[in-house]
Amino acid sequence: MEQIEQQDVERRIEGHPEVVQKTIACSMVGHSRIKLPLPGRLACARCEFESASSPGDVIVGDYSVENMQRAEALTWQDTMLTPNPLPAL
Ligand SMILES: [Zn+2]
Repeated sequence: MEQIEQQDVERRIEGHPEVVQKTIACSMVGHSRIKLPLPGRLACARCEFESASSPGDVIVGDYSVENMQRAEALTWQDTMLTPNPLPAL
């Protein structure tokens, strides 16, 4: 599979409303590993659709050492169009 670069996604989403940009980004690079904790489930922090958990998930608002360490491994595929999962307290 051909590697998708950030600029490919940026070109593709240009000019679309933000909500559409987020959906396109997830369709191109997959859901973000940044996850919103909702009751009983996780959602992608970018498109807000329900998303299965994966080992590298970073949960928004979880300031545990483990979660902060996983945040170090995030890439542009995770952080593009997503909120900062761990804003300064
Ligand atoms: Zn998504």
